[in-house]
Amino acid sequence: MPAKRDYYEILGVSRDASPEEIKKAYRKLAVKFHPDKNPGDHTAEDKFKELGEAYEALSDADKRAAYDRYGHAAFAGGMSGGGGGGGGFHDPMDMFSQVFGSAFGGGFEEFFGGGGRSSKQRSGKQRGSDLRYDLEISLEEAASGVEKELEIERNVPCDACASKGSKGSGGVRTCQSCGGRGVVTRQAGIFLQQTTCPECRGAGETIADPCPVCRGDGRVQRPSRIKLRIPAGVDTGTRLRSSGNGDAGVRGGDAGDLYVFLHVRDHDVFERDGADLFCEVPLPFTVAALGGELKVPCLDGRSSIKIPAGTQGGTVFRLREKGIVALSSKRRGDLHVRVQVEVPTRLNSEQQDKLRAFAASIGDHNSPMQEGFFQKAKRFFDL
Ligand SMILES: [Zn+2]
Ligand SMILES: [Zn+2]
Repeated sequence: MPAKRDYYEILGVSRDASPEEIKKAYRKLAVKFHPDKNPGDHTAEDKFKELGEAYEALSDADKRAAYDRYGHAAFAGGMSGGGGGGGGFHDPMDMFSQVFGSAFGGGFEEFFGGGGRSSKQRSGKQRGSDLRYDLEISLEEAASGVEKELEIERNVPCDACASKGSKGSGGVRTCQSCGGRGVVTRQAGIFLQQTTCPECRGAGETIADPCPVCRGDGRVQRPSRIKLRIPAGVDTGTRLRSSGNGDAGVRGGDAGDLYVFLHVRDHDVFERDGADLFCEVPLPFTVAALGGELKVPCLDGRSSIKIPAGTQGGTVFRLREKGIVALSSKRRGDLHVRVQVEVPTRLNSEQQDKLRAFAASIGDHNSPMQEGFFQKAKRFFDL
C-alpha cells in the first residue's frame, strides 16, 4: 500500500490555512477531478477520493487538531462520528454535495451526484446520474417553440444481459472478502486500519458471472438521440428537465434525468427583454417630415407603422403584442421600434439646388427642436 499523502499537500494549502481557504481549495480541485468530468480516468477518481478524505479531516476543527498532532495515525482506526450510514470511512460524493449544495442553490449536486451512495438499493441497483446538456437556439425558435433532437453520450441499459450485469443466473452476490461492508480492517502495528475492500472496490457486492459487454455494470456508454420539445417563450437560463433521459442506472436501477440549459443566440435585428422585443429601423428624412408608412420587421414576418408628419429621430413606436409570448404568464409582449432618421449621402446637383431652395423657404422658423435648443443655449451664441 503506498504511503498516504499529506492532507495539506493534497489540498495545496499551507498548514495554517483558514477554514475558508481549505474549503475554497477543495471546491476548486473537486470540480477538476470530479468523476463525471473525467469518465474512465482512474487517476482522477483516486484524486477525487483522496481530496474528499483530506477535506473531511481538515474541515472539521477536532479532526484537524488530531491530524496536526498525530498525522494519519489519528484516523487509522477509521474516522469516527459523522453519522453516515454504511460505516464507510468517508464519501467523497457526500462531501461534494455538502460543499456545493448551498453555493449552487441546492441544485448543483443533482447534476453530478445522482449515482451517489445514498440512492443505492439492496439488489446492487443504483440510480443513474443526472446529466447536463447546454443547447443554443435562435430567437425565433425561442419565440415559437421548437422540437430538437439532441445527441448525447450516455449510459444506456445493456441489451446483452438485460441490465442484470451477469451473463448467467449467478446474479449479484454479497462480497465474500468484506461480508458486504465494502471495507476491510487489518492490523497495522498497534492500529486497526480500515481500507476500501479491494475485491468489490467498496460496493459490498460482486457479480458472480459478469456480462462481457458491460462488465457487470448492466449498462453501456453509447451515443443516443433524444427528442426534446422546447416550449414557446423560453429564454437564456431556462432549464428543461427530460425525465429518465440521464444515465441508465447500474444493473437496472432507475435512470437519471437530463437537464437541458438553454442559451438564446443574439439576433441581428432584435434585442429582447423578457417578452418585449426592441429594434431600430432607419426612416428616410422625407418620410419623417411628410409622414407616411414604414415597413418594420417582426419575428413572424413583417408589419408596418404609420409615421405621422414631423416625426423626430429616436421616436419609439410600440406595436402591441408583436413581441414574445411569456413562458409563465402566457402574455404576449410588445415590439418597440425606434426610428433613426436617415439623411441622404449622395445628392446630385439638381437635388442639392432643390434642398437649398427648400432651406431658403423654410428659414429659421420651422424647427421646434432647434428653437428650444437655442433658447436654452442662447448665452453661448450671444458672445
Ligand atoms: Zn451486460
Ligand atoms: Zn468487498
